[in-house]
Amino acid sequence: MPTMDPPRLGEPFLLTPGPLTTSFAVKQAMLRDWGSWDDDFRGLTAELRARLLEMIGPGWEAFDCVPMQGSGSFCVEAMLGSLVPRDGKVLVLVNGAYGHRAARTLDYLGRNHVLLDKGDYLPPRGSEVARMLAADPAITHVFAVHCETSSGILNPIAEIAGAVARAGRKLLIDSMSAFGALPLLAGEVPFEAFVSSANKCIEGVPGFGFVIARKQALQAAKGNSHSLCLDLHDQWVHLEKTGQWRFTPPTHSVAAFLEALHAHQAEGGVAGRAARYDRNRDTLVAEMRARGFETLLRDEWLSSIIVTFFCPADPRFSFGTFYSAMKARGFIIYPGKLTVADSFRIGCIGQLDHVVMGRVAEAAEEALAEMGVISAAPPAAALNEREKLAA
Ligand SMILES: *Cc1c(COP(=O)(O)O)cnc(C)c1O
Repeated sequence: MPTMDPPRLGEPFLLTPGPLTTSFAVKQAMLRDWGSWDDDFRGLTAELRARLLEMIGPGWEAFDCVPMQGSGSFCVEAMLGSLVPRDGKVLVLVNGAYGHRAARTLDYLGRNHVLLDKGDYLPPRGSEVARMLAADPAITHVFAVHCETSSGILNPIAEIAGAVARAGRKLLIDSMSAFGALPLLAGEVPFEAFVSSANKCIEGVPGFGFVIARKQALQAAKGNSHSLCLDLHDQWVHLEKTGQWRFTPPTHSVAAFLEALHAHQAEGGVAGRAARYDRNRDTLVAEMRARGFETLLRDEWLSSIIVTFFCPADPRFSFGTFYSAMKARGFIIYPGKLTVADSFRIGCIGQLDHVVMGRVAEAAEEALAEMGVISAAPPAAALNEREKLAA
């Protein structure tokens, strides 16, 4: 069993999909200043790039890892602006906020795109992607979200990747909330590039993200970018030449991330982390259902990253009061992001284990009692909607 290293300073657990609860050792790694130009820091950057690349398994030699300052969205923008040529066209697979954000980014970049929009929580399927690609030969790239964090749905990325590869197009993946806890292997899922960030499943702190892309794609990206700061090609060339980031790197975040990468390996890599997060989700879902709460998604689509629950129908329930009652018990939860029904989300990632998840469900029960809510059952309309759409 992995040894947990939970918050020690009376902080609440962050049941949010990043920033998330980090270990004491990760926080401690930030108690030192680094010269960005110095060899010691260049060593951290080199190790970070090498360790992340190794995580995509056999075939990694054809890829490179380019870290980029900023939050995850900065890296999505860097990937889209650098790897999609100005005359390219992107099919964006949408089933939540992050797919919409990518489409909006392409609007800003002036890149031609079309959407396959599945609404709040249905997965885009390989057959649908194949049909759209066959009908539109101008599409050069497909953008897919691995785990759509707005509902927690685990999209069928291998199925989508197969359809894209068979149609001879290129796949760009937002694996922000999945990489490190869900396998993404170059040998199994054909992709051109994907992006993730420091403060999700590797359990580091915010400050940067990274793009893992085919070297060929990075080479071909020269001159594509609309932005100097977000030019992936330029950042890559500079890293290769000097071992340094182009502009001020988030030195403390990088040092913390190295500590997080060592802990990830000690836990058994992706498989070890996945096992802990799976158990977190299984415990959370079972304990919440036992208290009458309902999940938005059927079991088949539930990720081990974050779970969406319907708000109870009882008129005495209010999310604001529920949030405060959970916080008073040491848990920061997350509001829902659905258009069809009121919901809230509970993250399963970060330095927490199934024991903590059991306590979360107990806290939810106490919070309902405090509000005078008798049943956690959602409105019948929410459940009907779910069944109708899932049919
Ligand atoms: C967290 C996340 C992002 C990036 O969000 P930032 O707030 O910019 O870090 C993008 N896509 C998904 C799926 C995410 O979960």
